[in-house]
Amino acid sequence: MSTLMNTYGERTLTLVKGEGSRVWDDAGNSYIDGISGIAVCGLGHSHPAVTRAITEQAGTLLHVSNLYNIPPQRELADKLCQASGMEKVFFSNSGAEANEAAIKIARKYGNDKGIENPTVVVMNSAFHGRTMATLTATGNTKVQQGFAPLLPGFVRAPFNDVAAIEVLAAEHKNIVAILVEPVQGEGGVRVPADDYLNKLRELCDRHEWLLMLDEIQTGNGRTGQYFAYQHNGIKPDVVTTAKGLGNGVPIGACLTHGRASEVFGPGNHGSTFGGNPLACHAACAVLDALDNEMLAQVAERGEQIRETLRQSIGELDQVVEIRGHGLMIGIELAEPCPELVAKARELGLLINVTAGNTIRLLPTFVMTDEETDTLVNGIIALVEAL
Ligand SMILES: *Cc1c(COP(=O)(O)O)cnc(C)c1O
Repeated sequence: MSTLMNTYGERTLTLVKGEGSRVWDDAGNSYIDGISGIAVCGLGHSHPAVTRAITEQAGTLLHVSNLYNIPPQRELADKLCQASGMEKVFFSNSGAEANEAAIKIARKYGNDKGIENPTVVVMNSAFHGRTMATLTATGNTKVQQGFAPLLPGFVRAPFNDVAAIEVLAAEHKNIVAILVEPVQGEGGVRVPADDYLNKLRELCDRHEWLLMLDEIQTGNGRTGQYFAYQHNGIKPDVVTTAKGLGNGVPIGACLTHGRASEVFGPGNHGSTFGGNPLACHAACAVLDALDNEMLAQVAERGEQIRETLRQSIGELDQVVEIRGHGLMIGIELAEPCPELVAKARELGLLINVTAGNTIRLLPTFVMTDEETDTLVNGIIALVEAL
């Protein structure tokens, strides 16, 4: 009997080692990692530059708190702004905490303007985290079940539906921001219309709302740009990220631009661990490794995988849709398919099923051609056998 709280159900696989796109279990079996620790280890496991950064910093200075200047924190903030076109950064330890910072910015932005009960528009089937504010923002009743009372200050619209938000705008005069994922990850790898973010940008400008993008999963190169909004040529007011930022070292960030940068002052927000030297030095190594060549490779490899899947299984009755952006890949099936996770494991593949009926692949950015073929051919065989 485990002394761990029973929040993850029974776990039957024990992983003890990783290198590149492979992980090994405690019996010495190896697997191609098609999920990368849920979009975390984009650069692959045991990436030499990240390992070097961690060991270097661990032998120099681990932690001092935000009472002091932290050179790797400043350096990482500069690199993030350079990569994103944003202006200011607050560091957290996780994605949910990065979103908490964003929600606080939205509320204070509204309260500073004298708007009573400032309200944030969030989407159906969204996922924003497990803290009280972020599970309230999440559009999945399973995540919320049993945790009433939820927080006030959110209204909900269907994803990829700009007209529905216009209707909300007419009904609620206290809206101050939109919080949305550029591609919904946990919600089933849902990809909106190409111009969705552009239309949201225009809507936010017209109403003086903040456009807040949750790029916790889509960020850090996952879609083939550093952030997904860079495909649209727009800038959000607030963007949050985490998952891939530390390639496995826990770190999150909330970035702001323009008027959103003016909202927080001393004492408005903080974190003991957020932005500590170890996490920031490791994340600097991640940003250095995520060069344009690697981003281009992510875009190309993602297209190639979707194309192969479409050609081989796209027409099957059991396949509803093959979609995604960069190396976020979803294969929606006609029926729930949770058993595929165990079947894939027997083939030496780690995959994930989300939203009940969607196979989700979030592979590393460093798979060899051979590893890519093995992963894709395995998925094809599993789906054909359904
Ligand atoms: C994973 C995720 C979160 C939550 O991040 P944690 O680090 O688990 O708190 C929030 N939003 C999105 C889009 C995510 O994918």
